[in-house]
Amino acid sequence: MSRSILITGGAGFIGSNFISYFFETYKDKKIINLDKLSYAGDLSNLSEVENHKNYTFIEGDICNSNLVEYIFKTYNIASVIHFAAESHVDNSIENPSEFINTNINGTFNLLNIAKRHWMDAPFIFKEDCESNRFHHISTDEVYGALGKTGLFTEDTPYAPNSPYSASKASSDFIVRSYFHTYGMNVVTTNCSNNYGPKQHDEKLIPTIIRKAINNEDIPIYGDGKNIRDWLYVMDHCKGIDLVFNSGKSGEAYNIGGKNERDNLYIAHRVCDILDEIRPKNMPYSNQIKFVKDRPGHDFRYAIDASKIESELGWKANENFESGILKTVQWYLDKYEEK
Ligand code: NAD
Repeated sequence: MSRSILITGGAGFIGSNFISYFFETYKDKKIINLDKLSYAGDLSNLSEVENHKNYTFIEGDICNSNLVEYIFKTYNIASVIHFAAESHVDNSIENPSEFINTNINGTFNLLNIAKRHWMDAPFIFKEDCESNRFHHISTDEVYGALGKTGLFTEDTPYAPNSPYSASKASSDFIVRSYFHTYGMNVVTTNCSNNYGPKQHDEKLIPTIIRKAINNEDIPIYGDGKNIRDWLYVMDHCKGIDLVFNSGKSGEAYNIGGKNERDNLYIAHRVCDILDEIRPKNMPYSNQIKFVKDRPGHDFRYAIDASKIESELGWKANENFESGILKTVQWYLDKYEEK
């Protein structure tokens, strides 16, 4: 049986963009996509690859040991790119237990089964398994919040503030421990906020666009001054591909776009674009309304991506202004089709 890559969470926002990117880039590699299709997973994100000869979808939970074991055995899994997670900070404040389960226990389950299939003993790989790699997809939120200045580097101490970021930080540490204790071939990427096609409706940018064209209030937390470093999702996919293929085992790589924007700027920018391409009798920005802030809302995140840039030659293709135009157009097509 030829070797396959296990992608987890491939029906979600970034995973589905990554699978499309991957099949465009590599013609002969096989992908098994394991996704439990939570509220955040959507198979229509994968319509362009669903009939690809090298693509298999399996509906199921990364916490299900029997299922993961079966997949490793049946499909000769030689690498894992692990996207599956509960990913929405607001939900983690309301219902943290699912975050602990999927993000921590699920990651442990995958790693542990990968170790059993790839390693005979600590630092001793089974035959032909030396290059088998576990790539863990994580977030810059593990580093906590920044003040007005400074950037997160790979050496910034972890200081997660929400149940979401705490669960991701825990999973990063488990991955790290499998490198140091067992010699497993692991890499982790910590990325800033992504935006682009196929993101779930609940997230900031899709919400702004949807509310704007439905003539509803556009809700902005607090004073709208919270800053994130926005990266177009395809630039993240390119970074993952580089680290997966060329990153150094045991290392973490930050990926970020040098595109710091506050939430109010984003709402205004989307409204300005809509004023141009879908003009109506008043500016869309009249619909912006401030709402009670998220508890524990981190003020600012910003990434120093110089390691992946200098070691692996990564560079973002999009800046925020070019990426947001494409993004608004994509969601208009989606929402106006309904
Ligand atoms: P998403 O919420 O859009 O998708 C997550 C996917 O995982 C969904 O398809 C869901 O069905 C699946 N899933 C959830 N629990 C599962 C389980 N127990 N078993 C199997 N599948 C399960 O998330 P996303 O935005 O695509 O994020 C993907 C990864 O990237 C996450 O690990 C997230 O922490 C990380 N990340 C996201 C961002 C961002 O801005 N979205 C930034 C940095 C890192």
